[in-house]
Amino acid sequence: MTKCIVMFSGGLDSVMATHILKEQGLQVHALHFVLPFESGLGMKHEEVKRHADRLGVELRIEEEGEEFVRMMRDPHFGYGKHVNPCVDCRIHRLRKAKKIMEEIGAAFIATGEVIGQRPMSQRRESMRMVEKRSGLEGYLLRPLCAPLLEPTIPEEKALVDRGRLPAIKGRGRKEQLAYAKAHGLSHGSPGGGCVLTQEGMAERYADLLAHTPDYTLRDFKLLAYGRRFRLKDDAVLIVGRNCAENTVIEKLVEPDDIRIELEEIPGPLGLLIGNGDEDAVQKAARIIVRYSRVRENESAKVTILSKEEMQALRAVPAKDKECDALRV
Ligand code: SF4
Repeated sequence: MTKCIVMFSGGLDSVMATHILKEQGLQVHALHFVLPFESGLGMKHEEVKRHADRLGVELRIEEEGEEFVRMMRDPHFGYGKHVNPCVDCRIHRLRKAKKIMEEIGAAFIATGEVIGQRPMSQRRESMRMVEKRSGLEGYLLRPLCAPLLEPTIPEEKALVDRGRLPAIKGRGRKEQLAYAKAHGLSHGSPGGGCVLTQEGMAERYADLLAHTPDYTLRDFKLLAYGRRFRLKDDAVLIVGRNCAENTVIEKLVEPDDIRIELEEIPGPLGLLIGNGDEDAVQKAARIIVRYSRVRENESAKVTILSKEEMQALRAVPAKDKECDALRV
């Protein structure tokens, strides 16, 4: 049976691409990439697994790390509307997929792309350029819109029947939704949800770049979690918004960080990174208290834990105005 790889987000388009190729008798290997924010944190990616299982295909998960951050620093094709380097990101992932294709002996790679669906990365010229730059010329099939593009090698070799592929174009997803309904497919929300396409992320990334141009993978990961406060040019505070975020932040603590926690009552975990001088610590303690259940006219005991010492202090909640002024 001919093997192929589908770039699999678990969203509507990649689920449909997988189903189409399976229906044509191909052995599909679903390849899912995880952005650095979730890499190395023991996350389970249950939803993607469920969609792959429902389709009956093998799933491979590739977690991205330093190499993604290197690309992020200086994307050759720039960013989209926010800090999403979509064209570079696609090339980068397809290059990795090519290696896997060679490793497992797959005949080609497929994506759920639809011509004209996204302004930056799914224009005809951009799709062709991505194919070339990733070294996949002729081996990159877009089953959802293939008849609108040049025939690929798997189509020419009749590994895939071009005549049975749909010719979808544009931003609407009516045809994909109808196909999914007709075949009872389970899929994630159409369009997915890359955190790099969110406005808030663009602001946080700009703040990181301005204050820590030589940021690390860990600094980058932390952009996706918690409330973020720029206490001073060389000090930032991350405050978990819920239990799950506290757990992630806990995993990302480094020896030079200062942990800030409430001592007697439940509340968020705070991570002070950078210059933990008296002023920064006091501000951080007040902000942590602000996001606990302590009332405006009360105070709470806060523990400050650095690699040198542990100290306790009482702090009153920061005023909303102060928090808003420091919030990134
Ligand atoms: S939306 Fe995010 S994951 Fe998708 S190509 Fe763009 S940057 Fe990469």
